[in-house]
Amino acid sequence: MTIPSSTMEPGPAKDPAVGARRLLARLRDIMAGSGAAQDRLDKITKTIAHEMAADVCSCYVMRAGEVLELFATIGLNQDAVHKTRMRVGEGLIGDVAAHARPIALANAQSHPNFAYRPETGEDPFHGFLAVPILRGGRVRGVLAIQHAARRDYDEQEVETLQTIAMVVAELVAAGELVDSRELSVANDLVLLPSRLEGSSMNRGIGIGLAVLHRPQLTIRQMVADDPEAELARLRDAVDGMHSAIDQLLIAVGQVEGEHAEIMQTYRMFASDRGWLNRIREAIRSGLTAEAAVQRVQNDNRARLSQASDPYLRDRLHDLDDITNRLLQHLAGKPVTAVGGTLPDEFVLVARNLGPAELLDYDRRRLRGLVLEEGAAYSHVSIVARALDIPVVGQCADVLNRVEPLDSLIVDGDHGQVFIRPSEDIQEAFTRSVQARQRRIAEYATLRDLPAVTRDGTPIKIMLNAGLLIDLPHLHATGADGVGLYRTEIPFMVRASYPDVATQLETYSKVLDEAKGKPVVFRTLDVGGDKTLPYFPELGEENPALGWRAIRIGLDRPAMLRKQLRAMLMAAGGRELRVMFPMVAEVAELDRARKVLDLELARLARQGHKAPASLQVGVMMEVPSLLFQLDALLPRIDFMSVGSNDMLQYLFASDRGNPMMNNRYDLLSPAMLRVLKLLVEKCGAAGVNLSLCGEMASRPLDAMALLGVGLRTISLSAPAFFDVKNMLRHLDLRELSGFLDRLYDCADHSVRPRLRDFARDRGIPV
Ligand code: PEP
Ligand code: MG
Repeated sequence: MTIPSSTMEPGPAKDPAVGARRLLARLRDIMAGSGAAQDRLDKITKTIAHEMAADVCSCYVMRAGEVLELFATIGLNQDAVHKTRMRVGEGLIGDVAAHARPIALANAQSHPNFAYRPETGEDPFHGFLAVPILRGGRVRGVLAIQHAARRDYDEQEVETLQTIAMVVAELVAAGELVDSRELSVANDLVLLPSRLEGSSMNRGIGIGLAVLHRPQLTIRQMVADDPEAELARLRDAVDGMHSAIDQLLIAVGQVEGEHAEIMQTYRMFASDRGWLNRIREAIRSGLTAEAAVQRVQNDNRARLSQASDPYLRDRLHDLDDITNRLLQHLAGKPVTAVGGTLPDEFVLVARNLGPAELLDYDRRRLRGLVLEEGAAYSHVSIVARALDIPVVGQCADVLNRVEPLDSLIVDGDHGQVFIRPSEDIQEAFTRSVQARQRRIAEYATLRDLPAVTRDGTPIKIMLNAGLLIDLPHLHATGADGVGLYRTEIPFMVRASYPDVATQLETYSKVLDEAKGKPVVFRTLDVGGDKTLPYFPELGEENPALGWRAIRIGLDRPAMLRKQLRAMLMAAGGRELRVMFPMVAEVAELDRARKVLDLELARLARQGHKAPASLQVGVMMEVPSLLFQLDALLPRIDFMSVGSNDMLQYLFASDRGNPMMNNRYDLLSPAMLRVLKLLVEKCGAAGVNLSLCGEMASRPLDAMALLGVGLRTISLSAPAFFDVKNMLRHLDLRELSGFLDRLYDCADHSVRPRLRDFARDRGIPV
């Protein structure tokens, strides 16, 4: 074990900011000096230990296979260098790498994750501070200091070590310590065709050549002598960036709704004072403007990527986008629409993307988007949906697997990506794209044909919607209305709970866009798998059976009242249909109805125009309600079956658990019996019955629904024409007779029999 020499130059500086500046200046000299990279790293660790008065300073570098190798140390056994290796996630060092965030402990040895390695001679050290070495958003290693004594590390020390880690990142990334090829997985294997699984964030199929979105600029200089000059450069770059974003907003301008709102939020981020102040502070600590911007973003990454809240995690991508933009302005290479050198048909591959970055690319040539991260309700997904670009997200490691201009197929229908696909796969997908285009052309004629079965029964096909950008589909398809407007979706993409005025604006726009077609507004259905960023984490053991939907509304009546108020006001003089989700007993409906009546009275008191008519309905999702139909039906105007939840509660089978996928079938005798009962009871009571779960979007399942007796279904827009086409080929009387023989059968599912029925009669399902 070597203890750092105490005879080096002057001791650690008293003022921490001065100390950090001095340390950075030293490191700059070492980095610029001659000698092998290993020697420079040795000197760097020695200098850090000295300047931070630490007993140990160690640097671990990431090697292929996600292994962290001890590359340099002062204070631990030199014999351990290049021998001690940890997996990502193993021990404290592995933990820092796994979560890309610092760990500071007064006594590391008592921590449960401490992994003792006898060869390092770590026994006498207690105080422990380690930070990730980050570059391009990836962890390249870990830098740690240790103290013999137990001690707390203050924020300034953590920040200083993080700043130093950026300098070390340059040395690691230069490829002298570890051959950069080792880290980029560029071996022959990678050139073979492969398929990656992700999750679908927008449907559709896109075929094109890969364009890798790597906005990361190489920061050549980390340390600056003149903070004032750097602050001035930052000021100019921020001004330049703001006016460029304004231009972009004008360019995408005329778009309304969430899309425009998202871009406004983005603009707000770019002017965020806290963010800019933190960059200024980092400059004052001795970094160049570029390094300071990057440094603040490394912090954001570490902080936000750990957030349990999906909204906050998504904001990270907006911040990445803005950071890259600012770096480009600092480098004097402001972004303009990326177009000139792109292939005619391309698929964009990125770790993640902000909404503005997506808009930088030429939309006419963009065929698909693949993201290593991404979430269905992230801003970029919403914008991509508005532009009708297929998106596969959560596609791990795609950036390492794809080379620029590789051919790619994005299968947004099944959440998969084909890399360098073989010719037969390419042909199959090309055929499917062509078939889809042909179908779209054929469907253009289907739009104006009536939704009537072959034997003359008219069917109402409604759409499920949740965002304003879903509404144009209403007219493009000729659907009968919106059978389910999920009000929680606009709540989920916002930063804070929308007030009455904001909700009123949204609901009014929905009704305006529907142009007189009926819209069923479902009150807030959050909880379970749908969390709101600004709602407390409840940590429920079983959220699907927990505090969700109408239960929240009844326990927080002010929230429900405000939502109903906004709906009533939006519908002034027009028809309003309100539906309550997850009702489990009639008493809950009665309580919700009372809240609605209070709001109706308030509306009249305040002289607002009342809706021209008001219909009240419930979602049929909880089986207990099936046993109260006689009390329920006289109280409601309509009912819509939520088959997604009904299947989950009927079969005690978690809808979000992949192990339960397809374990029980919607076309089981039990489910069909439930539907049959509802058809009979609602029919007798004169209550309109519909079904708005995913079931209605699958032609074979939709066929069964009509066979059981439903005459209204509500489905997602992409399924509209497939279902309409199916029903126009269907003889309902024949199917109904066929089904009558199946209700009592003991099959797991009648799906195979229904498939044969359809095939034998040429019904397209
Ligand atoms: C359902 O449960 O079928 C339904 C339509 O509601 P959600 O999917 O929004 O829970
Ligand atoms: Mg539901």
